[in-house]
Amino acid sequence: MSFNLTTSSPEPGEATVRKALRFCVALILVATLLPVFSVNCVLALLCFKAPLKRLTWIDISAQPVRLYCWQAGLFKRSAAILNVLGGTIRLVGNPLVRDGVSIPVIRRFHSPCSSPGLFDSLWLYSLTGLSVKAPLALLQQQRDQSVFADTCLVIKVMLCLCLYRKSASMPSHSELFGIPFSNTRMQTAVDWIVQGAQQQPLQSACRAAYYINVNSVNLSAVNARLYQALQSSDRNFIDGSGMRIAARQAGMGLADNNNGTDMLPALCEAAVERKRSLFLLGAQPGVAEQAASNLRQQYPGLHIASVHHGYFDDDEQVCNTINQSGADIVLVALGSPRQEIWIDNNKHKLQAQCALAVGGLFDFFSGNIARAPMWMRELGLEWIWRLIQEPRAKFNRYVLGNPIFLFRVYVLQQALRGF
Ligand code: UDP
Repeated sequence: MSFNLTTSSPEPGEATVRKALRFCVALILVATLLPVFSVNCVLALLCFKAPLKRLTWIDISAQPVRLYCWQAGLFKRSAAILNVLGGTIRLVGNPLVRDGVSIPVIRRFHSPCSSPGLFDSLWLYSLTGLSVKAPLALLQQQRDQSVFADTCLVIKVMLCLCLYRKSASMPSHSELFGIPFSNTRMQTAVDWIVQGAQQQPLQSACRAAYYINVNSVNLSAVNARLYQALQSSDRNFIDGSGMRIAARQAGMGLADNNNGTDMLPALCEAAVERKRSLFLLGAQPGVAEQAASNLRQQYPGLHIASVHHGYFDDDEQVCNTINQSGADIVLVALGSPRQEIWIDNNKHKLQAQCALAVGGLFDFFSGNIARAPMWMRELGLEWIWRLIQEPRAKFNRYVLGNPIFLFRVYVLQQALRGF
């Protein structure tokens, strides 16, 4: 395996200016954290300890780095910002070994970043659960970015740390609000979807998989049929930042954010490789056709057996159409809760290997609805974008639904504390 690194070093003068600007950003960070630092110093002195100690970390190029850490108080690792001021490490650079960073993958290569950094893009992606297909490309992009982009990265990581900081516990299967789920990396989820009948010999019916998000939790609390469908599925994948917040409050860390829109490209690649065909069911007439044509263009060799719009009454006829197409994987985009209940009612009639409920996926891939800018997705705020795009349609889901969900999280947390 090889990785093509293009090096574009800045002019010496420009490099000095950049270094000075980064030092200023670190200085602002120290000034912001000064109250915390003062409290930590006082607490350590009250315990007759030196305020700071040094810990040895390892960066992803396997280089050891000695960093300061507070002996007492809050945000103990924030003392490492002093190392940035001292020049031991950079503000943004090579990732330090932390939970969720896929070290074994990277250690086989030389990282494009020359020095370790207190902040890095892989850390941001791991906090929000964005799956990283090419970690080295992401690091290279980070290495070449401006001081402004570095500052934005620092702010994004700090915001995500407040919202989604991971718990040490990362169960592969668990449950939230009574709904079981698989806590997987994106590729593991895709592998499960495309696996063939020989890998699941005891499974005769079509497997059902759903994405669990804030909306499905809220809907399933008042819709017993949906709740039952989510309970009896073969896999539930966790989707969205709301679920990350809930998992965190329940003491769990989540792996990747397995939403359908991020998963489809990986699924198409795997379908080409494993020779699996897809059926697109749902959305307004013409939308699935357009999505299919775009996907065929983007993934040469992808076999989309057929499509059908989502405004129908005759389930029997639609199941026959799917079966006659010979599709292996059925993507069902009928909106929640209809899509999950439809799959649950009809999976025994389907000859496909797997049916996935995918929401508004075809609207995105047909080009009808644009996806949120990357910075919003990095912060787990894609829902704001969708609210701006369709304020009437999404008002109940987000403006009413999100506070209700947060209240449910609070109740869940209190209940867990009671045990
Ligand atoms: N839809 C459908 N049949 C219906 C109701 C909805 O095909 O009876 C489609 C709708 O056109 C849209 C998708 O289901 O393409 C639902 O999108 P939504 O934005 O609700 O999904 P999300 O991704 O937010 O769950």
